[in-house]
Amino acid sequence: MSEFNEKPERLIVDGLRLDGRKFDELRPIKIEASVLKRADGSCYLEMGKNKVIAAVFGPREVHPRHLQDPSKAVVRYRYNMAPFSVEERKRPGPDRRSVEISKVSKEAFEAVIMKELFPRSAIDIFVEVLQADAGSRTACLNAASVALVDAGVPMKGMITSVAVGKADGHLVLDPMKEEDNFGEADMPFAFLIRNGKIESIALLQMDGRMTKEEVRQAIELAKKGALQIYQMQREAILRRYIEVGEEMDEITEGDEDA
Ligand code: UDP
Repeated sequence: MSEFNEKPERLIVDGLRLDGRKFDELRPIKIEASVLKRADGSCYLEMGKNKVIAAVFGPREVHPRHLQDPSKAVVRYRYNMAPFSVEERKRPGPDRRSVEISKVSKEAFEAVIMKELFPRSAIDIFVEVLQADAGSRTACLNAASVALVDAGVPMKGMITSVAVGKADGHLVLDPMKEEDNFGEADMPFAFLIRNGKIESIALLQMDGRMTKEEVRQAIELAKKGALQIYQMQREAILRRYIEVGEEMDEITEGDEDA
């Protein structure tokens, strides 16, 4: 049993959160692109204790065929939580929550993927939560975005996602489990970011209560966090391109030697 299964007396102690973060601080993030051999694009991502993997396939033929759209690609997104990813074993398979997360996440990507370039085809995005600690949908959106770039799917920008919570009356960036469970509000965002600039909100959900002013501040806080995550997504992709470049150089040098 987790030490945090019972409500902690306070979520903020001496101006810091239970994990020592400031209000506007993200959890540590780790991103690695191109981790799966059989996917067209993939990504492993950690956001605090969340550990997720994304795999992208396509553009490819649509099965069943009646789902084809003659004018554009269909985007499919499946969010799945492993039974062992949470404290209390989750029943395998889809449930209302994962269907809802899959739907809103798919809609966020529909806003950026250039679907018109691939009529009659499908772009399939699978995300698997291996370990969850609140904000797993945001971690999955960030991983899926990198996996789509890794697959070479043309997009108008990146999708970058982060939540803002409210704990002991304070807005907090990227809430972890205790803040999500025992805080007053949780507001996940996904932004469309192009050339380092936030263009629009592609996903916005909310549970709990916030005042109008807090909502305004939450948007600003989320934007600030998203721009930091965006840089890490970019770096992960660039690292992969450099690796591919080095592999190509080795192959070319090998050819020259022969
Ligand atoms: N959770 C759980 N069992 C479930 C669903 C969720 O223990 O069946 C936990 C998990 O840690 C998750 C957190 O509750 O990250 C918050 O879930 P929420 O539905 O708010 O989605 P998330 O914040 O992960 O996007």
